Amino acid sequence: MAFAIPIWTQPALPIAGSSELFPVRRIFCVGRNYVEHQKEMGGDGREQPFFFIKSAHALVPRGGDVHYPPKTANLHYETEMAVAIAKQGRRIAARDASGYIYGYAVGLDMTRRDLQQMGKDKGRPWDFGKDFDEAAPCSALAQAAKIGHPAKGALWLKVNGIERQRADLADMIWSVPEQIEYLSQYYTLEPGDLIYSGTPAGVGPLKPGDELHAGVDGVGELRVRIVAPL
Ligand code: MN
Repeated sequence: MAFAIPIWTQPALPIAGSSELFPVRRIFCVGRNYVEHQKEMGGDGREQPFFFIKSAHALVPRGGDVHYPPKTANLHYETEMAVAIAKQGRRIAARDASGYIYGYAVGLDMTRRDLQQMGKDKGRPWDFGKDFDEAAPCSALAQAAKIGHPAKGALWLKVNGIERQRADLADMIWSVPEQIEYLSQYYTLEPGDLIYSGTPAGVGPLKPGDELHAGVDGVGELRVRIVAPL
């Protein structure tokens, strides 16, 4: 079948140690999944986490240059472990969740914090704050078949060589299996879905010229440079 306009490139992530790509379908993101980040966002640290969504077209595979986005004066970084779903599932029990996971990566949930705050203040959606061009830099995927299923270990970010975020995966409020259990009650999870599993405390603003170096020990690393707006 022919398409009436040229078809676009399927968003995809590289796979470490492989020439194959992992096609990305949707990006689900957990909000407020670390106690200290809940507090820095104005909460009491006792809220239930929740989800929002970014388009797969916001991916910046392997990182690199990211343009400072339009209509914001407060672009923030959020360092997260990303989880790649390998097969379809509904109402997945947490104890079975690892069987649905293809692998893990290091992601940045880039946020137009001022637009997100406007949404919160007015009770409106977060989309403009969270889902925009180049809002989801992500490293190559490490296959679970090779690295297992990381439930502890350091997640960290340096900006211009200075450490800004450091936490342990074990500090998540909802573990990755619990996230999959929750999300799969609301959605049919599909192969290619990504889950950004939340950021710890230490989020902050960026400006053109800033160099980000993020990592999750045992999973991978990601480098991003913020460049002038398009
Ligand atoms: Mn986030």
